[in-house]
Amino acid sequence: MDRRRIDSRLGPRRGLPPVLLSLLALVILIVSCVPHRFGGNQAAAERSTATGQPSPPGAATAETTPDPASPAATPSRTRVVYLDPGHGGPDTGTGGTTLDGTWVQEKDVTLAIALRTAERLRAAGIEVVLSRTSDELPGLEPQDVQPDGEGLTAEGVLRDLQRRIDHANASGANLLLSIHLNGHVDPAATGTETYYDSTRPFSDESRRLAELIQRHVVEGLREAGYDAVDRGVFDQTELEAPGLGVLPDYPHLVMLGPAVPGRLRPSAMPGVLNEVLFLSNPTEASLAQQPEIQDRIAQAYTDAILEFLAAVKS
Ligand SMILES: [Zn+2]
Repeated sequence: MDRRRIDSRLGPRRGLPPVLLSLLALVILIVSCVPHRFGGNQAAAERSTATGQPSPPGAATAETTPDPASPAATPSRTRVVYLDPGHGGPDTGTGGTTLDGTWVQEKDVTLAIALRTAERLRAAGIEVVLSRTSDELPGLEPQDVQPDGEGLTAEGVLRDLQRRIDHANASGANLLLSIHLNGHVDPAATGTETYYDSTRPFSDESRRLAELIQRHVVEGLREAGYDAVDRGVFDQTELEAPGLGVLPDYPHLVMLGPAVPGRLRPSAMPGVLNEVLFLSNPTEASLAQQPEIQDRIAQAYTDAILEFLAAVKS
């Protein structure tokens, strides 16, 4: 995001008395100093850029770079959304069998839904940055992968998630949506659920986004003819997190949770994780791999995100 454009919109107008000019200057100073407001990710983006890390494939670098030639009085600044299709590459996520016996992998469904969502958001004028745009994990290193090539090591998972978080922060996104599908040992388990983290400076906004995502996805599935179970919105810290072996006693989702000194740099914007459906349930696995249902979920995400952003002050 372009801080200069934000400030110029708050700037003094010609002909205002000196007292009002002073008040406006004070307001500008306060707004500029408030951390973790929308637009406050610019500093994170600049820090990340300064590290010289290469952008992962799929990074919309050109789209997220402020245009210095833009007129100062841009009517509204561009909003940026970070979409995180869960898993990828050797990390397949969970999986399940459809009613006709087809094996569905979580990583494939999350990518399909994310790409469809990106298309819709961009058509609505939103900048979208994705953690991945193919079945490759950007920045993956050999030591992140299990010796047999099946999945990532615990440290590898943490490093993969850290790369996604750093990428999200560098994008200056207004929000982060991590897309996953659920799995359970009981194939009867079904439904949609959304997580946020209640311990972050922007948790109220995360919760608002989580409620919008949850409502729109459930409504969308029901409109598509499936009587989806609304499992609700959860604060991750209320639940027993399985956690990663390398981050013991960390009752948070890594993508959304707070910092762990020396181990985890946290995401810097309102964020949620949506578990769309259960791949361990054959009916829901069948739905999840249907393009029409993926489109419906993408539309639900788009509607929820646009509604969320409409209430965010620029
Ligand atoms: Zn997952």
